[in-house]
Amino acid sequence: MKKIVVLGAGESGAGAAVLAKTRGFDVFVSDMSAVKDRYKELLDKHGIRWEEKRHTEELILSADEIIKSPGIPDKAPIVRKAVEKGIHIISEIEFAGRYTDAKMICITGSNGKTTTTSLIYHILCKAGMNVGLAGNIGRSLALQVATEHHDVYVIELSSFQLDNMYEFKADIAVLMNITPDHLDRYDFRMQNYVDSKMRITRNQTPADTFIYWAGDPIVSREVTAHDSELLAVRHGFTADTPLPGGMAKESLSLKGRHNLYNSLAAGYAAEAAGVPMEVIHEGLSDFPGVEHRLEKAGFVGDVEFVNDSKATNVDACWYALESMTKPTVLILGGLDKGNDYSQIYELVRQKCIGLVLMGVDNSKLHENFDSFGIPMADVRSMPDCLTECMRMSRPGCCVLLSPCCASFDLFRNMEDRGEQFKEGVRKLRIQLDN
Ligand code: ADP
Repeated sequence: MKKIVVLGAGESGAGAAVLAKTRGFDVFVSDMSAVKDRYKELLDKHGIRWEEKRHTEELILSADEIIKSPGIPDKAPIVRKAVEKGIHIISEIEFAGRYTDAKMICITGSNGKTTTTSLIYHILCKAGMNVGLAGNIGRSLALQVATEHHDVYVIELSSFQLDNMYEFKADIAVLMNITPDHLDRYDFRMQNYVDSKMRITRNQTPADTFIYWAGDPIVSREVTAHDSELLAVRHGFTADTPLPGGMAKESLSLKGRHNLYNSLAAGYAAEAAGVPMEVIHEGLSDFPGVEHRLEKAGFVGDVEFVNDSKATNVDACWYALESMTKPTVLILGGLDKGNDYSQIYELVRQKCIGLVLMGVDNSKLHENFDSFGIPMADVRSMPDCLTECMRMSRPGCCVLLSPCCASFDLFRNMEDRGEQFKEGVRKLRIQLDN
């Protein structure tokens, strides 16, 4: 019996293990960290062997094929050993793709993936399609393929998932943009990351569709460079491209320049998937938005608070700042993934009346912004952060959490950071009301 080893027992790994088991493979799951109870239960229910807090090499290296969770880097010792032994390593999406004929709509990019994916899913559901939501968002594709039936999947793909995809094909591929991110996982070489993102077009044929933001210099350069290999029908869009069916921009539910791009991409993807134009318009105009992405967190007095905790790179923060129409107190900081802050210098000069640096190590932010002459404060917790924000605020200004950095130095994850922010804003409002 062919032996499959799954590395990492999170959402994607546990799902892949269940699918492999139901397809008759001998399956073993190994995770260097503790496995969450719900995944232990899932594995046990399917009679799948697993281990946690260790990697038993002889079991792992006897695999015919390894399914690796996207969170595990290639430089992890066990992955290196598997590569040396010549074991084929694939991603959960690659594996799941082997067992379904469903139409695949796949979205990647440095920013805007979750928003665009959710928007497409929202429109397809509205159209009454039998659609699954998968990838970085929602439940694992493999688990859905194992236990449910969908005609279409909308899949958010990170570069890490794309790295281990070979035969998989997106019927509709969407590439939002390519700006520096995760360079620590790509030997700090931008082209490695770019190549990874371009894998979204792999195996596409003239019957497929490739939607991309042509306004992005890297994307357009890559499309030109790979002109003869890109066989799919191409829709490159720019800020001047009309919305599908000539829809008015004012009717879009999501505001801001970046959300216009997300709406364009989602609208054209839905059109390529055969959704009637009136349903596309309805979906683009009543989409409720996604948590932690330029999410309105309410007012304290007349100071507005916006939670953009998901902005874990500089480009995302650029778009958030660009959409600000009021003087802004900006919260920056956390774990820096190789950021180049010069991109936001001009917007910080134009729009920011205060900078609150929230991280264990704020030195790089100081090097970049000390000379600006803008009031600054260093904090290491959300309550202190909000106190400083209130101190720096002026009537009618906005406090924006759009930190350019990952959250793991002070928070469990970006959701935790965003929730603490919103909770803090609620408390401030109650204090003010009393
Ligand atoms: P991802 O899933 O790629 O991280 P999200 O939709 O979660 O993307 O948005 C992440 C961050 O990027 C948010 O801070 C959001 O405001 C910003 N953003 C969203 N769409 C875009 C875009 N098209 N271009 C640049 N930034 C964007």
